[in-house]
Amino acid sequence: MHDVVRLNQFVESQMPATWEFLRQMVGINSWTLNPAGVDRLSRFTAESFAPLGFTADFVPSVNPAFGKHLVLTRRGKSSRSLALISHLDTVFPPEEEERNIFHWLVEGDRIFGPGTQDIKGGTAMMWLVLKAIQAHAPEVFADVTWKLFLNSSEEVYSPDFGALCRKHFDKGTLAALVFETEGRLGNEHLMVVARKGRATWRVTVNGRGAHAGGKHLQGANAAVQLGHLLPRIAALTDYKRDLTFNVGTVNAGTVLNRVPHEAVAEGEFRAFTPEAYQHGKAALLALNGPGEVKSPLDGYSCQITTEILTESPPWPRNAETDRIYQFFEQAGRETGYAVNLQERGGLSDGNLIWDAVPTLDGLGSWGDNDHCSERSADGSKVPEYIEVSGFAPKAEKNVVAILKLIEAAR
Ligand SMILES: [Zn+2]
Repeated sequence: MHDVVRLNQFVESQMPATWEFLRQMVGINSWTLNPAGVDRLSRFTAESFAPLGFTADFVPSVNPAFGKHLVLTRRGKSSRSLALISHLDTVFPPEEEERNIFHWLVEGDRIFGPGTQDIKGGTAMMWLVLKAIQAHAPEVFADVTWKLFLNSSEEVYSPDFGALCRKHFDKGTLAALVFETEGRLGNEHLMVVARKGRATWRVTVNGRGAHAGGKHLQGANAAVQLGHLLPRIAALTDYKRDLTFNVGTVNAGTVLNRVPHEAVAEGEFRAFTPEAYQHGKAALLALNGPGEVKSPLDGYSCQITTEILTESPPWPRNAETDRIYQFFEQAGRETGYAVNLQERGGLSDGNLIWDAVPTLDGLGSWGDNDHCSERSADGSKVPEYIEVSGFAPKAEKNVVAILKLIEAAR
């Protein structure tokens, strides 16, 4: 018990420095499509972890529109390593931050600002946890090889980041810990043990254009065909399987006096299990082929082409993640912190790596309204914030859990 008290004192003593680190990160706009800002945040992050003994590697993204990924490494004496995952980017363009006067703002138990919760608060948590391990268990800190991976473009599709992490994992990698925000249910703090997979898709209908006045019979109306198709796609949703389809955008035709020759819809589908995911994918692709809308003149039929645009595979509930979760549950019991688990709908980098090393998510502290920047006068809308009082206790729980995890691997 004495150790927990000492840890608590140390963590509390570091909170002013932690908030200052977070404040400076939040002050750097790092919208995914602002690569200069992302790279600036990346350099600042590297400088902030350097005193802990980390060296930086800036790795270009495969997409030149994005900033560089950041890999921070601290070589330990042993071959055992831990991977800690965060990201650099946010969803807020600089103009949006200005328009909504969305900046660092401390108000009672909340700190508002772009990325406070998603995920600069997670990076600050990572820093505090490592500082506390260094102070509290210096031998362990020096023994383990710490590998920190920060994605430049998590908020958009960036599978190359998963490949980068996997390249650095080896037999000694005990776990990958993702610092996205925790969930909350009453007074329970929820770690994330599974996430839905998501695919985006496009359906293109090619019909045959015709003059709507003189050659109407020759036309095969792509818009009408797509109209037939959309309810079929929507009906692929199966709540019992936790499989959902969303038709997101629809575009058809160009002018009013032509039978439209092309119509396009795009959307996504999501599922928790690989089985449901594959089922959904197969059902969508099975729509390929000739449609029922035909030219009355010669029977020329509309052609339906479905394609998958991007895929982030599901991270299903699995034994290895559950094993890592147990350390956090025990740590919660010892530090008087009610811990539970959740399966979450949204994606994280956990989806890209869970099958390579045991992965747990939700190490970040609690906040709310991520991806929101608006505030209304009546208080019904408030932007993204992180909770102040929950931060230090979460850090202490993370430290105790990580030390247990490493101890168990000895
Ligand atoms: Zn995030």
